[in-house]
Amino acid sequence: MARPLFDASQYDWSRPVDSYWESQRDTLPAVTQSALMRDETTEVAIIGGGYCGLSAAYHLARAGIEVCVLEAGPIGWGASGRNGGFCSIGASFLGASELTALFGEAETLSFYRVLVDAVRTVEQLALEESIDIRRQGDGVWTFAHKAKRLRELQSQAQILERIGVACEVVTKAGFEARAFRCDEQYGALFESAGFGLGPLAFCSGLARAAATRGATLHARSLVTSWRREGGTHLLVTASGTVRAKRVIVAGNGWLPEELCPALAGRVMPVLSNINVTRPLSEDELHRQGWKTEAPASNTRAHLAYLRLLPDKRLLFGGRGDTTGTPAGGTAMRALLERRMGKLFPALKDVEITHSWRGFIAATMRLTPAVGELPDDPSVSYAFGCHGNGVAFMTWAGRELAKRIAGTAGGLPAPLRGLPARFPLPSLRLWQLRAILARAWLEDALL
Ligand SMILES: Cc1cc2nc3c(=O)[nH]c(=O)nc-3n(C[C@H](O)[C@H](O)[C@H](O)COP(=O)(O)OP(=O)(O)OC[C@H]3O[C@@H](n4cnc5c(N)ncnc54)[C@H](O)[C@@H]3O)c2cc1C
Repeated sequence: MARPLFDASQYDWSRPVDSYWESQRDTLPAVTQSALMRDETTEVAIIGGGYCGLSAAYHLARAGIEVCVLEAGPIGWGASGRNGGFCSIGASFLGASELTALFGEAETLSFYRVLVDAVRTVEQLALEESIDIRRQGDGVWTFAHKAKRLRELQSQAQILERIGVACEVVTKAGFEARAFRCDEQYGALFESAGFGLGPLAFCSGLARAAATRGATLHARSLVTSWRREGGTHLLVTASGTVRAKRVIVAGNGWLPEELCPALAGRVMPVLSNINVTRPLSEDELHRQGWKTEAPASNTRAHLAYLRLLPDKRLLFGGRGDTTGTPAGGTAMRALLERRMGKLFPALKDVEITHSWRGFIAATMRLTPAVGELPDDPSVSYAFGCHGNGVAFMTWAGRELAKRIAGTAGGLPAPLRGLPARFPLPSLRLWQLRAILARAWLEDALL
């Protein structure tokens, strides 16, 4: 395989990442997931066993369509098993007013309807398939890190209210009274659609539901090559092959680029880091005035996202490094510790028990992409949810399944078609460094 963008350690599929969620694996539903050990034939083959691939598999199997998932690591190895567990409205780096300027009001509203539907899709799956997603909180907070950033939150609230999502914009004091005390907070937006969940719990439950409905799941089955043989696709792993009429590409930030040249250079994988503290004492929580289980993030370009977990640990996430080396991970862990201490002085120097990272996926147009290749409609794809894919990628997998089953409607403009390739794709890490430097300046000046 070609040399990946980041350090090789980020592509070690032989073991799960050492996350807080993995430390709880014993309490999750067991998922039957053997490696592909022979030559198989199926109707639809899916590359990637995260929310997108599993949701597509679940919905295809439910519609009576034969489907097989090929995942390089254990099921949920990628971002789906290691994220922050915000099940919320998002999926784009563009705000409501920027989307409206680019795509017009009607398309922006229909995009936001999709985002709300995505949150409902997770709720509905959990209910119908009795998945214990370890839900926490009703709603999601976004707090302004400067007074003038409250305006953006107001325009987000306006658009969400127009599609029936109850929102509240509160003052600094209002936020403190309902959420927590924080040294960089100037008022906040509360969106009623959204909550926290256990990401690996949801992923394992979704996998079990897909398997129960008849989908075949192969873990530890990295697809190393892909070719056409007449009207069928042939996917090759180290110990077997899958022949399929259709392929869904659900590899998101980890997809080896040479596997599907039509998608190469269209994703910018970006590392995001998470620290989790030891359980906080009542006194520590009291000193920060903690009252909420709802997930929260701020308006910084280098955003901080955080939530109090059921066992009173604080999950605190933010930007990652741009190399993927072990040293880069150590530096980001320390940076996040400093940022947490700055926002929450009572938690400065609290022990971090878990720290890990993974790829989120950005696109040139800053919105996700869902659909089929223009010159080969037997290949479907979904990628680029900009660090907000718990709900969106579950929705996207369902949408791809519906499109294959012929039961889907149209897509809103921000999701349609392939985003442009990044210029000089092999230099993407330098572009990323420039973007992160600009974000740092934006945070300092705006
Ligand atoms: C640290 C972090 C925190 C995040 N926090 C949040 C959050 O709080 N809320 C939120 O909404 N989103 C969050 N996200 C983003 C969210 O997790 C992702 O958008 C979502 O999980 C993507 O789902 P997916 O199925 O598209 O991709 P993934 O879950 O990444 O799955 C892709 C899978 O494809 C596999 N794969 C790739 N290539 C091959 C191949 N050749 N053969 C076989 N398998 C292959 C990979 O191993 C991987 O498991 C976060 C992401 C990270 C990394």
